[in-house]
Amino acid sequence: MSVYLDYNASAPIDQRVLDEMILAYQNKSGNADSRTHSFGENARSAVEKARKQVASLLGVSSNEVFFTSGATESNNIALQGLKEYAEKTGKKHIITTSIEHKAVLETAKYMELNGYQVDFVDPNESGRVSVESVLDKVREDTLLVSVMHVNNETGVIQPVLELGEELQKRSILFHIDATQSCGKLVDEIRNLKYDMLSFSAHKLMGPQGVGALILKRKSYKRPPVKGIMYGGQQEQGIRPGTIPVALVVGCGKACEIAEQEYKDNEMHSLQIKQAILSVLEESGLKYQVNGKQDVCISSTLNIAIEGVSSEALMISSKQYCGVSNGSACTSSNYSPSYVLVAMGLDVSRIESSLRLSWGAKSDLNEIVDNLKKMLNVAKMMKN
Ligand code: PMP
Repeated sequence: MSVYLDYNASAPIDQRVLDEMILAYQNKSGNADSRTHSFGENARSAVEKARKQVASLLGVSSNEVFFTSGATESNNIALQGLKEYAEKTGKKHIITTSIEHKAVLETAKYMELNGYQVDFVDPNESGRVSVESVLDKVREDTLLVSVMHVNNETGVIQPVLELGEELQKRSILFHIDATQSCGKLVDEIRNLKYDMLSFSAHKLMGPQGVGALILKRKSYKRPPVKGIMYGGQQEQGIRPGTIPVALVVGCGKACEIAEQEYKDNEMHSLQIKQAILSVLEESGLKYQVNGKQDVCISSTLNIAIEGVSSEALMISSKQYCGVSNGSACTSSNYSPSYVLVAMGLDVSRIESSLRLSWGAKSDLNEIVDNLKKMLNVAKMMKN
């Protein structure tokens, strides 16, 4: 059996989450926005419990949590939802990075085509953008800075803590895509200063198709974001449409479990990373790690095996390891990872790069055994 090493694309659902969701599908059949009967009240109370679970994990108030279909939608609302405010204030300059997920990059590019000016800040070879390179771009008319917390391809943690402090002093709106850090860097997220934050439940072992946008209040006021779809008043108009109660319940439960278990998960993930690095060392293959490891999360490793095409290796060792060489959202047709390109890595290194990512359910021995088999295939490919 192949071992799953693509948690950054999507993590398997936790059985405890699934159990709660099944109960919700069976027993919470109402619409959470129906006011006239107990079925609606039942559904509403399940949604509000989930909202509290999300708020507790992130260290925010329940009234700052808005459920969406996931990080792609949250990111779209965070950026596009500012249009009305931008028109009113004349602020039409956005700063983001060249290594954001497509859900931010493509939204920013769309806004660029529609009268906004966007600066895409590059990282250095470590995979990190510097605070200075972002702040250098700030202008009088800067509307928003959007920087991801953890990069999905390299696992590198971006300096959002420092950026948040600096941007708050300058009263500039700050959005963080925390999809890869939510439920993992729990203490750090609680200390961040931001206006908007996005995540998807499936990256923390919740269900696919649900996530949240956090809209932090300052002096009781929400950031000036408006919903980008027209419809009902669900989620205060930020995200119209019937709330998917069971998905939201699953999202809440995943957050509750992450809050209870993130410290153990972190230790487990670190042990796996060390074991993977030992297997690589012992293999005798020449490899390089992409992304600076002292600012990298414990559950991701991006490596380049010298002289081995990652595409060829992934296909010929599928029976051992399920890995990837980039974001699933861009992998339908092969093109070199834009993240590694932005880091300035050379083409041959990029073409031999693989992303391994794992999590709380991963079995260390199974990973070690299967990785050894994959690396044997890599050795054969070199000969
Ligand atoms: N942002 C980041 C950093 C991600 O890794 C992902 C998922 N790959 C997304 C946003 C989009 O999440 P979803 O596909 O669940 O909307």
